[in-house]
Amino acid sequence: MSEITHRKNTRPVKVGPLTIGGHDEVIMQSMTMSKTHDVEATVAEILRLEEAGCQIVRVACPNMEDAEAIPEIKKRINIPLVVDIHFDYKMALKAIEGGADKIRINPGNIGRKEKVEAVVNAAKEKGIPIRIGVNAGSLEKRILDKYGYPTAEGMVESALHHIKILEDLDFYDIIVSMKASDVHLAVEAYEQAAKAFDYPLHLGITESGTLFAGTVKSSAGLGVLLQKGIGNTMRISLSADPVEEIKVQKELLKSFGLATNAATLVSCPTCGRIEIDLISIANEVEEYIQNIKAPIKVSVLGCAVNGPGEAKEADIGIAGARGEGLLFRKGKTIRKVPEEIMVEELKKEIDILAEEHYKK
Ligand code: SF4
Repeated sequence: MSEITHRKNTRPVKVGPLTIGGHDEVIMQSMTMSKTHDVEATVAEILRLEEAGCQIVRVACPNMEDAEAIPEIKKRINIPLVVDIHFDYKMALKAIEGGADKIRINPGNIGRKEKVEAVVNAAKEKGIPIRIGVNAGSLEKRILDKYGYPTAEGMVESALHHIKILEDLDFYDIIVSMKASDVHLAVEAYEQAAKAFDYPLHLGITESGTLFAGTVKSSAGLGVLLQKGIGNTMRISLSADPVEEIKVQKELLKSFGLATNAATLVSCPTCGRIEIDLISIANEVEEYIQNIKAPIKVSVLGCAVNGPGEAKEADIGIAGARGEGLLFRKGKTIRKVPEEIMVEELKKEIDILAEEHYKK
């Protein structure tokens, strides 16, 4: 089998003003929980996701009234909208006509050739891509019969089958996901997919679980893939507020140096030398830097014993000392501040650094 196609070398596919694939950026996505036809609730949810840093949002479209709500939702949001449809080509046409920036539908499940053609032609006309969503839990019967149970090979075979239907209709704006709730299976399927074709890959471990367990499971699986250069866009699926999905994705991308405009926090694990209420301070600072769009490294340390030297690479930080904090920059103490205003002073310094970055 051939080499893994690095995310930079995948085919670039436009989704609204964004391009998925063909570069090193990994686009963050989430999906709304509200009923899509409830426009007020859906728009409110999307605006919250936008504020959290979500770059593309997906809505489910189980009924025609959901597809009919797309134009109104589109008018009121600012990020590309993906419409998720199963089987029904009329709904797909409605969503495309309504301004969807991408649709998620498996062409092999649409039915008769004319129906597939109608959807593909509408997508072509509007210049929007189609995401093929292969899911280990819903592989075609013939593939399951062949392999006996869901396998990575079977998932790739399914992807190639759907891809061929689109390619035969001269359609190449394709994005593919290979989701499974089993981490090993998902990783293997994505690895094999990255060798089998160069369409951009949408990463995800499906039904990964609650905020805590799902974060660990998804990060474990997607971490392996990101490290190998696989993945152009992702969604971390959690049984939680979708805003949490974005926070986890951001953190994951930061860990791999793939979020260029985000601040990161280094905080000590605490020990018996601790001089300040580090855990609450670290949480407060973490919350604060969520909205900083500059690559600033902030450090929060419980004491000054190893102090600033332990976080030399931090741009700015504080270390607790008795009743006060040492504010330091690049490993050098710049001033002492009373404990009560320590966090406020740190925030001011973060703002100054962010401003300096924005002016560059
Ligand atoms: Fe312990 Fe101080 Fe290190 Fe934190 S910075 S782990 S409190 S020695």
